[in-house]
Amino acid sequence: MRRIVVIGGGAGGMLAAGRAAECGAKVVLLERNSILGKKLRITGKGRGNVTNTADLEDFVAAFGSNGKFLYSAFSQFSNHDLIEFLERLGVPTKVERGGRVFPVSDRASDVAEALERWLRKLKVDIRAGTKAEGLAVPGSTSECRTGQTCPTGPTDDRPSTMPRIAGVQVFGGVISADAVILATGGITYPKTGSTGDGYRMASEVGHTLIPPTPSLSALEIKEPWVSQLQGLSLRNVSATLYAGGKKIGREFGEMLFTHFGVSGPIILTLSKAYVKLEDKSDVRLSINLKPALSRDQLDERLIRGFAQTKQFKNYLPELLPKTLIPVFAQLSEIAPETPLNVITSAQRKRIVDYLVDFRLTVEKARPADEAVVTAGGVSIKELNPSTMESKLVRGLYLVGEVIDIDAVTGGYNLQAAFSTGWVAGENGAGPHG
Ligand SMILES: Cc1cc2nc3c(=O)[nH]c(=O)nc-3n(C[C@H](O)[C@H](O)[C@H](O)COP(=O)(O)OP(=O)(O)OC[C@H]3O[C@@H](n4cnc5c(N)ncnc54)[C@H](O)[C@@H]3O)c2cc1C
Repeated sequence: MRRIVVIGGGAGGMLAAGRAAECGAKVVLLERNSILGKKLRITGKGRGNVTNTADLEDFVAAFGSNGKFLYSAFSQFSNHDLIEFLERLGVPTKVERGGRVFPVSDRASDVAEALERWLRKLKVDIRAGTKAEGLAVPGSTSECRTGQTCPTGPTDDRPSTMPRIAGVQVFGGVISADAVILATGGITYPKTGSTGDGYRMASEVGHTLIPPTPSLSALEIKEPWVSQLQGLSLRNVSATLYAGGKKIGREFGEMLFTHFGVSGPIILTLSKAYVKLEDKSDVRLSINLKPALSRDQLDERLIRGFAQTKQFKNYLPELLPKTLIPVFAQLSEIAPETPLNVITSAQRKRIVDYLVDFRLTVEKARPADEAVVTAGGVSIKELNPSTMESKLVRGLYLVGEVIDIDAVTGGYNLQAAFSTGWVAGENGAGPHG
């Protein structure tokens, strides 16, 4: 029976461990936290946006230039496979706006708990509270840092010079294995356990690291009045990001104001372009609050509205959400008590300007410990996309966020962890692992 050690009990590691056990391997799952799936439990604001109904092409596109690497994994274990699998585990799902898939219960913890029950049923040896220190690969720089002798793996038909995984170093010794699956996640939200250990372990055995950086971050805004908008959620708006006056991205959908600035799906997506900017000194966010209307249509609407005998402040609720009204009135420099029929065409033009170009100055992205996902990681060029096996170390597999793959929001990142985990588990357990 093949022995497999999985490092990391997150989304990717749990799927890898379970699938390997289903395929007949004897599996040990190491998780540094006392519980499995600590990050999974807080995904989607605790509701767990586990995948998306997008088709394969759109799925791959959500990961940008590295998306093609995931074709095979998504074909072997697709979003539909995941949905059926979760249903079998007793977690039915539902589809929401933008094809986002959530558990019907709205509880991400239900997914983590169902996965843990699945692992226990398959007799996976779950060692929670156990931190992996390194990979045991005879001949590599990581060899036996604990001073113990590493067992050597079996020989096979690959080049004899290719190192082979022998096990995992933990406090006090080495757990020997025929295959090791590295599923330690990225560097963001380190309080959930993902502190970047896997990057170190992979580079110690020769893998190239694309520098990991936080991606999908909320943005801090300079204008002090933004804190007055805390809690305001805007739907069906468009947001455009400009750097040095040049447009670098536009997104349509939902955003949220917080005490420090802005967040929500379209902001997180735009932040991917923001974090890559070399010069962040002049970055502006322009929100179009009425993207369905042209400037002329808006102006006509205001002309009709301003024929009423109301005061400006009593008309604004027809245009804007309540929380936005005091800030908007202040910015437009029109006294709230002004009767609508005395508002000048220049003032009306100013209102249109603010409705289509509500400007915010971006100060910086929120720190890594609050970002949703890590960009960068172990180079995809050194991994076999059909199996997730390392091309440098026989029997070593990498899955999830530790790999240089990251997508926009919408359930894509979790699906990538689940799919790569499934594929690695199956191949690690198989005769070719
Ligand atoms: C707040 C938040 C919300 C999110 N919401 C969504 C969402 O709704 N949908 C979506 O698709 N994605 C979401 N994501 C992203 C998604 O959670 C991650 O992409 C995904 O969890 C990555 O899975 P993983 O298995 O690779 O890593 P992780 O889930 O981070 O798991 C890695 C595990 O490895 C363990 N570990 C690390 N080092 C060691 C070690 N040395 N020894 C033993 N164990 C170790 C960690 O403790 C951790 O449990 C969200 C992320 C955050 C932070």
